[in-house]
Amino acid sequence: MKFGGSSLKSGEAMKRVCKIIATGDELKVVVVSALSGVTEELIQFMGQLRREDEIEAFIKGMEDKHIALLRESVSSETVRKEACAKIKDKLTRLERALYGFVYLEELTPRTQDIIQSLGERLSVVLVAATLQDMGVKAVPIDADELGIITDGVYGGASAVLDATAKNICPRIRHMFDRGETPVITGFFGRTPEGHVTIFGRNGSDYSAAVVANALNADSLEIWKDVDGFMSVDPKIVKEAVPIETLSYDEAAELSYFGAQVLHPRTVEPARMKNITIYVKNVFRPELRGTAIKPSGVQKVQGIKSISFMKNLAIIKIYGAGAGYKTGVISEISSKLTDAGVNIYSAATSQTCVAFLIAKNDVPLAQRALEASKRGVIERIETVEDIALLCVVGEGLGYEKGIAARVFTAVAREGVSVNMISAGASLVAYHFTVDKKDLERTTRAIHNEFFHQAG
Ligand code: ASP
Ligand code: MG
Repeated sequence: MKFGGSSLKSGEAMKRVCKIIATGDELKVVVVSALSGVTEELIQFMGQLRREDEIEAFIKGMEDKHIALLRESVSSETVRKEACAKIKDKLTRLERALYGFVYLEELTPRTQDIIQSLGERLSVVLVAATLQDMGVKAVPIDADELGIITDGVYGGASAVLDATAKNICPRIRHMFDRGETPVITGFFGRTPEGHVTIFGRNGSDYSAAVVANALNADSLEIWKDVDGFMSVDPKIVKEAVPIETLSYDEAAELSYFGAQVLHPRTVEPARMKNITIYVKNVFRPELRGTAIKPSGVQKVQGIKSISFMKNLAIIKIYGAGAGYKTGVISEISSKLTDAGVNIYSAATSQTCVAFLIAKNDVPLAQRALEASKRGVIERIETVEDIALLCVVGEGLGYEKGIAARVFTAVAREGVSVNMISAGASLVAYHFTVDKKDLERTTRAIHNEFFHQAG
C-alpha cells in the first residue's frame, strides 16, 4: 500500500490513512512519500547559496512541522517520545548534510539525492508511530537500510529488481513472522556500494511497485485523494466518469501523457509479476477504484480515457533530405538527449523532422542543435504553447473507425492538429493542438464518446 504526501497533510489525514492500513487482516507492507511540500522545501533550500544561520531556521521549521503532526496523530506519550527521538536523529543527519553543502559551496548530484531523501526518512516515523498508537506493530524502515538497490543514476535511478528482492524478502518475511508491519520510505534506494539514489520526483509510486515486485505481492494499492482514473480530468469536463479497469499499457500511456494519477514508471515492475494495481481514494476506501491488470480483461467499445499535457513545444528541424539521409534522426535525438531534453514524440517528413519537447527545454534544445547546424540542418523553428492530447483504449487496436471519430470531433470544433502519432502503441493515439484550443478539443472528444454516459 502506498500513500502520498497529500494524504498525510494533517493529524486527521494521518489517522485516516492509518485506519485504512489497520483494517483487514492481510499481510501488508506500507510505502510512503514525504509530507506534502517537504521534498519541494528541501530542493528549494539547495537552490541557492545559503548562510550558516539559515540552516538552523530551516531545520527548526522541519522539526516544527513534523512534531506538530505527531502531536495531533499520536496520543500515547511513550510512542510519541520514541518517535520524537527518531525524528531528531534524522534531522541531525539533515543538518549535517546541509552544513556540508553550505561550507563547501558545492552541491554534487550525490549530495542532492542524500538531502532529498530526508523527507521520506522523516515521514515513515510519523506513519509508523500513528499506527503503533492504534495498536499495530509498525516499524519504520529506510529503503537504503532495507536494501532497495538502484542502478546508481543520481536524480533518476531505476531499481535493480533481483538484487532488491534478494535483500528485502528475508527481512520482510522475518518482520511478518513477528507480527510487524513494515513502513518503508518511498522515493529512493541505494547503489550496491551504498550511495543513496532517488527515483525522480514523485517516485514513491515506483518504489511501491518495486517492493510489490520483490515480494510477489498479491496486489499493489496506490492510495490517492481521487477515485482513481477518470475518463478525462473532471476539472475540464464535468461529465467525466470513473474507470473501473485499465490494462497495463493503457495506464502507462495515460500516466506518461499527463494523467496525474500514477507515476508512469509504476506499471513496469507490477506488470512483470502480473500484479494488479488498484488506485484508490483515502476519502472513500469502500470504493473499488481503478484496477490495472493484464490486457484483454475488459473490451470496451470506443475509447476509455483522454489525458493531456499543457506546456509543450515543437522543435522543427528543416533540411533538404532530412527524411532520407541516414542518421539524421539519431544525431538530433542524441544531441537532445545529451542536453537533458526529453523527447515526447517525433514525426518526420522529407524536408523536416519534428520533435515534441517540454516548453521549458526549448532554450536547451536550441543551444544543443545550434552547435550542430551544418550539413543537413538548414533551419530550426520552434512552435511554443503546444498541448498534447492522448486518447487511450484497447479498442483502438481492434475496432475500426475510432481515429475517424476522434478527428471528426476535433474538426467540428474548427481546431487544427499539428502533430499526430498513431500506431506506435496499439492502445493510444496522441496528437497536438495549440494550447489555447486544448480544453474545447478535450470536451469535444469526450462528448463524442461519452455523451450517453453524461
Ligand atoms: N517526495 C517525493 C517527491 O515529492 C516522492 C514522492 O512524492 O513520490 O517527489
Ligand atoms: Mg509526492
